[in-house]
Amino acid sequence: MSQNTDTIAAIASAPGAAGVGVLRASGPLVPAIAQALLGRAPRPRHAHFASFRDAQGEAIDHGLLLHFPAPASYTGEHVLELQGHGSAVLLDALLRRVCELGARLARPGEFTERAFLNGKLDLAQAEAVADLIAARSQAGARAALRSMEGVFSRKVDALLQSLIALRVHVEAAIDFPEEEIDFLADPAIAEQLAALRVQLDGLLREAQRGLRLNDGLRVAIVGRPNAGKSSLLNALSGSERAIVTSIAGTTRDVLRESVSLDGVALELADTAGLRETEDEVEREGVRRAHGELQRADAVLLVTDAVHAEADLALLEHLPAGTERLVLVNKIDLADVAQHAEIRGGIRWLWASAKTGEGLDALRDHLKQLAGAGSGEGAFSARRRHVLALETVRGHLDRTAHALAATRAGELAAEELRQAQQALGEITGNYTSDDLLGAIFGSFCIGK
Ligand code: GDP
Repeated sequence: MSQNTDTIAAIASAPGAAGVGVLRASGPLVPAIAQALLGRAPRPRHAHFASFRDAQGEAIDHGLLLHFPAPASYTGEHVLELQGHGSAVLLDALLRRVCELGARLARPGEFTERAFLNGKLDLAQAEAVADLIAARSQAGARAALRSMEGVFSRKVDALLQSLIALRVHVEAAIDFPEEEIDFLADPAIAEQLAALRVQLDGLLREAQRGLRLNDGLRVAIVGRPNAGKSSLLNALSGSERAIVTSIAGTTRDVLRESVSLDGVALELADTAGLRETEDEVEREGVRRAHGELQRADAVLLVTDAVHAEADLALLEHLPAGTERLVLVNKIDLADVAQHAEIRGGIRWLWASAKTGEGLDALRDHLKQLAGAGSGEGAFSARRRHVLALETVRGHLDRTAHALAATRAGELAAEELRQAQQALGEITGNYTSDDLLGAIFGSFCIGK
């Protein structure tokens, strides 16, 4: 049940939108507020058509009143929902009335925060609520909905159970020091650890895909000046199938476009040329371009038939796991037909940013990398989830080392304890107040 003694209220629909305006309140005062507005006690989960009245008995608006008694509500507390006309003035008057009756204005994300605190949602599910609202693509929205339903959380919990089972074994071993060495050398423990590692790697891959679905695939476009980078960016973002949103804070050196391609989000960044230079300003551009490459999920080299081999150097020194692509542009000049090949583990595509020939193959490939068609089970994830899973992986690797060494049971146990803690941060079993503040503060008011 509720840990909160105060009642919060907020307008939960965009004021000014034609149609229905929604006001939501949550907390112990809700039954009294509902009774005051309706003139009698509301029936639980029943839509009452009513006049919402002010303190003098004057009607503020007519609409529907719904009362969801605790704990069977979104927040786990008593919740009131008022549906009136979609007018900012009326909703504002109604909100004042509800506050007169004892509620206070809700902070951003406070309803979902209460749902989390009351155990209605775990942290990953709560984050998915915000991601669902902010989704920039249909695939992203579908994935966020699955996370909100708990698909990701259940996988994290399953991993947690396996981890706890292993911890129990290792902790038991160090409780019996005279048998510890034999106990820890038991191949069953190594096998359990290996199985856990496989389970973790699978979840990490799914979470990385979930992150791409959520944030969009980050593609950095590199190449020498005049290779056709801007033309390609324009062709991809200018296609009739793309919805382009400008991203604020664009620097002069890195041009970004957020593109939703057939319902899949891509974030394209056209970097400045990466050549060595003496010029201060240009050097800054090159530095930023390098930063862009470190962050990208995929790096797309734009080149032409003449420079392709030499330009491959631009794809060196990328972080492990970065997808690399080569686009041999300007095939209209070279009289080459569009085609694709895998060379040295890198996908090469031949195309023309000018005529558009070959660009469909590029679009399809980017969409695939972004997680489109990634199956029914795809869920959304955030960067902090992926980082937590990577932290767990580090602890498991060190556990394996410790177990391989003699008498390192204590070390292994400590690594496993920290692994459990990192995993618990995803769903909120172990979470600092600062993190909670950061997560819920990014919500909109009324959620
Ligand atoms: P960037 O410096 O890499 O951004 O290159 P731009 O996109 O500005 O292109 C440089 C020049 O090449 C421009 O004149 C483009 O019109 C031209 N260009 C780009 N792509 C193609 C192509 O596929 N075919 C032909 N013929 N010209 C192209």
